[in-house]
Amino acid sequence: QVRFDHMQQHCGEHMLSYAFYKLFGAHNVGFHMSADMVGIDLDKEVDWQQALQAERFTNREIQEDRPITTKLVPAEEAPKMNLRKFNDKLTGILRIVSVEGSDSCTCCGTHPTSSGMVGLVKIFKVEKHKEGSRVSFLCGREALERVEQYMLAALDASNLLSIKETELPDGVARLQQEKKELSERLTECTGKLLEYRIAEMQAHPTATKAGHKKFVFLEPDMMPKEAKALAKRLGEIPESFSAIFYRNGERLNYMFLATDGAELSCQQVIRTVNEAFGGRGGGRPESCQGSAACPEDWQAKAEALMSVL
Ligand SMILES: [Zn+2]
Repeated sequence: QVRFDHMQQHCGEHMLSYAFYKLFGAHNVGFHMSADMVGIDLDKEVDWQQALQAERFTNREIQEDRPITTKLVPAEEAPKMNLRKFNDKLTGILRIVSVEGSDSCTCCGTHPTSSGMVGLVKIFKVEKHKEGSRVSFLCGREALERVEQYMLAALDASNLLSIKETELPDGVARLQQEKKELSERLTECTGKLLEYRIAEMQAHPTATKAGHKKFVFLEPDMMPKEAKALAKRLGEIPESFSAIFYRNGERLNYMFLATDGAELSCQQVIRTVNEAFGGRGGGRPESCQGSAACPEDWQAKAEALMSVL
């Protein structure tokens, strides 16, 4: 089975290479066999339409079940034989493999007795490579199995979205658009919510020892992006000191801000906080940030630290 699979890939490679050569004058200049795909490098760039054209051409020659023959020929006769691939440095007796009325090239590999045994050829990828293209494909049983896999994946995805398989790209694009809109809406709502909380805090203000406004946020679940937006907003309130503690996964993050006239050094504050939580961080007198592993009682601890400022 492995041997037969390999023969299908190998012979399919001959035939597909011939199609690219015959239809577009592109030569096979490299061959790869990765764990899950066979690849050929062409010395000329081809696009998907051309690749599909070559694929159809090859599948037709497979279905025509053309006889495949090998012939031993002296090297000096080879140039006259119209070979697709020929190395003029070769000497002695050459082994020529021919698909009737189609590809002829020198090869020492094993081939089926007729092209029908290749089964089918299916191209899965066309990429730009150096000055040409890399075309990845499979033949025979392996091609069919890969198509089955992709078909089932497409079927599952289309069932999830309740659309036809051919509509999947549109469906995914629509989901992305919806996600983008929701995310924007969420950012907007979070911003509004924070505005309310700031307004409420200002209505019932707490003060620093020096008598300036003090805002302390203890957020059990906040994204760094949101914390940054909140800090920006708090930074617009004059004569204020603000502290934002927020938990993000396993980490406790903290930011401190002192606006003009707050008479408090954030560097001093963060030094105390770093010490209390075993964290790291620093910055400038008017703004600092840091983080630590998040302990269970972080809220009480942070509140106590901020209450003495
Ligand atoms: Zn061969």
